[in-house]
Amino acid sequence: MSTQTKDFYRVLGVAENASADEIKKSYRKLAKQYHPDAHPNDAAAAEKFKEISEAYSVLSDETKRKQYDQARKFGGMSGFGFGRQPGAGGARPGPGPAGGAEGTFSFDDVDVGGLGDIFGSFFDFGRKKGRPSGPQRGEDIEYAVDVPFETAARGGKITVQLTVTEDCATCGGNGARPGTALNPCPECKGKGTITFGQGGFAVNRPCPACMGKGKIPADPCATCQGSGQVRRQRQVAVTVPAGVDTGSKIRMAGQGEKGPGGGQPGDLILTFRVIPDRFFEREGLNVVSSVPINLAQAVLGSKIKVRTVDGSRVVLKIPAGTQPGMRFRIKGYGIEKQGRRGDQYVQVSVAVPKDLDESQRELFAQFAEAAGLKH
Ligand SMILES: [Zn+2]
Ligand SMILES: [Zn+2]
Repeated sequence: MSTQTKDFYRVLGVAENASADEIKKSYRKLAKQYHPDAHPNDAAAAEKFKEISEAYSVLSDETKRKQYDQARKFGGMSGFGFGRQPGAGGARPGPGPAGGAEGTFSFDDVDVGGLGDIFGSFFDFGRKKGRPSGPQRGEDIEYAVDVPFETAARGGKITVQLTVTEDCATCGGNGARPGTALNPCPECKGKGTITFGQGGFAVNRPCPACMGKGKIPADPCATCQGSGQVRRQRQVAVTVPAGVDTGSKIRMAGQGEKGPGGGQPGDLILTFRVIPDRFFEREGLNVVSSVPINLAQAVLGSKIKVRTVDGSRVVLKIPAGTQPGMRFRIKGYGIEKQGRRGDQYVQVSVAVPKDLDESQRELFAQFAEAAGLKH
């Protein structure tokens, strides 16, 4: 029994669990092998090249691949001839499990609502489920970004590099090699939607062969392999609010993916990860820093300069007889967030002198004698 589903994995000769890298490698090899430039006037090679490009446009896109896998797992794709070209063979409608738009699955066995969801998510590539066609809101992009400790504490600016999907500049987003024509999509007869169903039940969905555009390029654009879209790096300047911690999120309206058909762009949602600092540690709004002092400072007392998160230095008085591990508070030098401000705690460690010379040892022994320290 042949199925009309295009097995994109088989087309690219990769395993279902192939990595993005493996898919890319295999695609490059096959695209070179079947490239129309290498096979002029060879319709079979052209068809094969188209097939490869189509498979790659789905499997190279993480979201599309997930949706494709989901639909495949469900096993319901065979009847819809996803991406099928007429005359490609094996596409005869007829009864049976692989026989055209009907009979692929039984509505009796499956909850129709759930089914609609699965197919909805599969066909509506990059679109919000259940929306009418026309301009739609772009996808939100979620990103985790690393922020230096002091930027997180005080607030500041960072630059975030995003990978976004944009219309291909070479073809202007229509997927055709410049100067070549777009043909009406044979799958949907140029309507951009296909109807499927059984009995009195019929649903319109964006056509998967042309992604709902109604047209397909006669000669795919080399830059985007006919998909009309490319992945691009974009830099976004981000203002980090003071006091963000690991896990804090901000939403930047309109900085997400562009909306299909000229719709509103989605949002950018950033989750911060604070890079650990070698000097400061955070405890809520308080900041803890460790400072080493020497034995004389600990015994006799001293004044030391301490770095704070706002970049200044404050003088801290070390009282005589300070013990290792003692904490001193510098009030108001913690993290400020929404009008509240924490304190800085300075935890001291005491360095014990090593490698004393003879006279130093002698003096220390005298001290020990006088203080009654057994050793
Ligand atoms: Zn293009
Ligand atoms: Zn179509």
